[in-house]
Amino acid sequence: MSFKAVDLLGISMLIDYEAMFREAGAEIELVKNPCPLGATEDEIISAIGDADAVITQTTFQKFTKKVLGSLPKVRLVSSIGVGYDNLDVPAATEAVILAANVPDASTDEVAEHTLGLILSCTRGIIELNEIVKAGRWTAVGDPHIAGNVWPRLSRLRGQALGIIGLGRIGQAVASRAKAFGLTVMAYDPYISTAVFEKAGAENLGLAELLEKSDIVSLHCPLTAETNGMLGVAELKKMKKTACLINTARGAIVDFAALFSALKEGYIAMAAFDVTEPEPIEASSPLLGLPNFIVTAHSAGISPQAFSELQRRPGYEVLRVYRGEWPVGLLNPEVKESYLRKWKKP
Ligand code: NAD
Repeated sequence: MSFKAVDLLGISMLIDYEAMFREAGAEIELVKNPCPLGATEDEIISAIGDADAVITQTTFQKFTKKVLGSLPKVRLVSSIGVGYDNLDVPAATEAVILAANVPDASTDEVAEHTLGLILSCTRGIIELNEIVKAGRWTAVGDPHIAGNVWPRLSRLRGQALGIIGLGRIGQAVASRAKAFGLTVMAYDPYISTAVFEKAGAENLGLAELLEKSDIVSLHCPLTAETNGMLGVAELKKMKKTACLINTARGAIVDFAALFSALKEGYIAMAAFDVTEPEPIEASSPLLGLPNFIVTAHSAGISPQAFSELQRRPGYEVLRVYRGEWPVGLLNPEVKESYLRKWKKP
């Protein structure tokens, strides 16, 4: 059997997929064909060529309907990472392509980063660090610290955390938040009451969650529905003292509205790991605001998560080669049409 996998990312510089395939006794040819991030549809189609499986990261390489419709030989698109925005997941009617992500490689890391951002807001950690390093903390103290920073520090116990998207990461944040004494509420229209109960989270509608939360944290995927979900009207519903945390995807929040909210005081602070676009433009007015904290899409990073993220797409290719379903299958509804074309996965 001739089976070809193409690495569009250049990730095989970091992990030896050829050895992985060889050790598994699989005759899989690996084509290393890294495509520039933000490549056009035609560049992506041409880089894939006649491969049977594709290893990519769809946040950076867009798998639109046009791209997916131009790949008659491809059986699997395996995207590295949790988020798969820009992957127009093939639907049952049209698809014979399996789409997979790596759903849980960095759940702990993102939850920990989220708590770090919450604490950075409520304990003023970043601002105090900057003041001290600038030599402004003197024996007589800094009036700015006593007058401006200390009044904004707060105790987490008893505050209300509103989680939007109570999936893997949302639940991991909820359990950590409870250890800090936060009351947890969540908005997620796609999960059962049992999930809310297990997470100890009150089930609220979006408007009520925004109104009641001291801290709002985003953990839903970026979809057509969540794109721009928090605009001026929603940010105005939040408490003026509230913090907004985003470790999900930048585009869930309207950035022009976010700037107004922070500048005009509809909310107190925002701490974002993700922006729209990425990287954030150097000219973004948000960068000049003291109440905006930003990290560089780093919430999911650790050596453990990296190693998992790199290995998993290789295993997904092996599974499809062997006639098994991918573990991170995103579109199980296509199984029937897939089997009609390929006989087995
Ligand atoms: P998940 O699929 O386990 O959970 C997502 C939850 O969001 C689900 O429960 C789903 O029902 C819910 N949801 C979907 N649409 C919603 C909507 N309109 N309103 C409210 N909730 C909605 O995913 P996860 O593993 O928890 O990851 C969540 C997101 O975190 C990912 O989609 C990804 O974009 C982001 N992420 C970011 C990083 C990072 O480095 N910053 C790393 C990993 C994941």
